[in-house]
Amino acid sequence: MTIVAKFGGSSLANAERIKNVAGIIRKIKKESDVVVVVSAIGDTTNFLIKTAREPTFVDNAINNLYSRHMTILEQIKKPSGKDKSVLKSFCDCIEKRLLIVQEKKVQLQEDIDYISGFGEKFSAFILSCAIEEMDLNAKIFHGDDNLIFTNENFGDGAVLFSRTNTVLKKVILPALKDNAVIFSGFVGTALNGKTTTLGRGSSDYVASIIGAALDAEEIRIYTDVDGIMTADPRIVKNARVIRKIDFNEISELAYFGAYVLHPKTIKPAMEKNICVKVINSFNTDSFTEILNNSPKTDAPIKAISSKRNISIINIRSLKMLNSSGFIARVFGAFKRENISVDMISTSEVNISLSVDEQNDFDCRIERAICNLTKFSSVETRKGKTLICVIGEGMRHRYGILGKIFTIIGNNKINVEMVSQGASEINITFVVDDIDADRAVNALHEELINGEIK
Ligand code: ASP
Ligand code: MG
Repeated sequence: MTIVAKFGGSSLANAERIKNVAGIIRKIKKESDVVVVVSAIGDTTNFLIKTAREPTFVDNAINNLYSRHMTILEQIKKPSGKDKSVLKSFCDCIEKRLLIVQEKKVQLQEDIDYISGFGEKFSAFILSCAIEEMDLNAKIFHGDDNLIFTNENFGDGAVLFSRTNTVLKKVILPALKDNAVIFSGFVGTALNGKTTTLGRGSSDYVASIIGAALDAEEIRIYTDVDGIMTADPRIVKNARVIRKIDFNEISELAYFGAYVLHPKTIKPAMEKNICVKVINSFNTDSFTEILNNSPKTDAPIKAISSKRNISIINIRSLKMLNSSGFIARVFGAFKRENISVDMISTSEVNISLSVDEQNDFDCRIERAICNLTKFSSVETRKGKTLICVIGEGMRHRYGILGKIFTIIGNNKINVEMVSQGASEINITFVVDDIDADRAVNALHEELINGEIK
C-alpha cells in the first residue's frame, strides 16, 4: 500500500513543526510505503521570487536563505560538514543565477522558475534530516530532475503526463521499500531540460500526479486547517468541516482552492479513483475525504463559496437573433487575449459573462472589449462577487432554487446574473461586493446550519 502525503509551507514553518511532520511520516511508514511531497518552508517561495525580480542585494539574500534554513536544521540535528555543504550548494546555484540576472538587467520567467524552485529543495533536505534522526531512511527526488515533465510555459508549466507517469513509476517504485521518499513539489523539467514551475501552490497538484502515477491508495494533503469547510471561515464564523465530499462537487466548487487546495489537484486523483484527504497536520483527527460517489446525505447543500473582485461584461447585439456563430465570435475575442471566463449566461440577444478583475482586468480586457464593440454594444460592471452554492443532493430536487433566492431577496440583496449548470449540482450567481458576505452568511445559516431537507 502506498500513501502520498503532501505538507505545505505552514506545516513545515519551523523546526518543531518539521519534527511533527517527521513523526507523522514515521507513523505512516509503519503501515505503508510513503511518498512525501513538500512545499517550501514558510514564505520562502515569496522571498525567492521577490529576490529574483529585484536582484539588488544578492549577498544579503543569500545570507538570509542560508541562515534561515541553517537555524532550523541546527534545531533538528547537529549539522555535519556534508549537511552544511548541501545547503551551501543550493545557495551557490541561486547566487550564480542571481548574478547573471543582475548582469543582464532583465529577468525571464525561466530565471524566476529556476530560482524560486529552490525553496522545495531546502525543505526536502531538512525534512529528510528530521526523518533520519528518527532512524528511518529518506531518499530525495526533485521534480526538475527529469521526473515531472512539462512544456516550456515557464511559471505555469503544463504536465506531459505519459512521459511523467512512466518515469515516476520507474524511478520511485524501487525506492519505496527501504525509504521514506521525499519529493520536492512545485517544479518540473521542460523538454529542453530547464526547470519550470507548475504555478503557485502547485505542490498539491504534484502530490496528485505522483499518487495517480503510482496508483497510490490515498493522497493526503496536510495543511493548517481542519479540512474543506462549508464556507470560508473568515467570512462565516460557524463554518464547519465537511467530512465527505464528492469529486464532482469539489470540481464545481471552483473557488474552494483559494484557501484549501490547488484546483488542478482533483483531476489526476479522480481519474484513478484515489481518495484525497485534506488533513490538519496539527490535529490529524480532523479531515475531509474527497471520493467518487461519496455517500449521499440528506442535506442537499454541502458548501457555499464566494469569489470577490469579479467584473460582469454584458454583450448585446441584434445580430445574435437567429444567427449562428455569434457566440463563437464573442469567445474568440476573449480567447485571443487569453482571458479566462468564469460564468456565462445568455438570452437571444444578450450574453453576460464574468471575468476575474485581479488577474485579468487589465489591457487584455480592454483589447477584448474593443474588439467586441465592433459588432455589439458592451457594458462593464465592476466590483462584483460570484457566489456558488454546491451540493450533489440538489439534483432532481425541487424548490431549492426558490429557497436560495428567497433568502437573498429577504435580505434585500440584488442578484445581477444567475447560472445553473445542467449537472444541477451548483447554482452560481453574482451580487455586489458590498452585499457578498451578508449573502454568504444568510445562505449558510439557513441552508447549512438549518440543514434544509
Ligand atoms: N512553494 C510553492 C508556492 O508557494 C508551491 C506550493 O506551496 O505548493 O507557490
Ligand atoms: Mg498550498
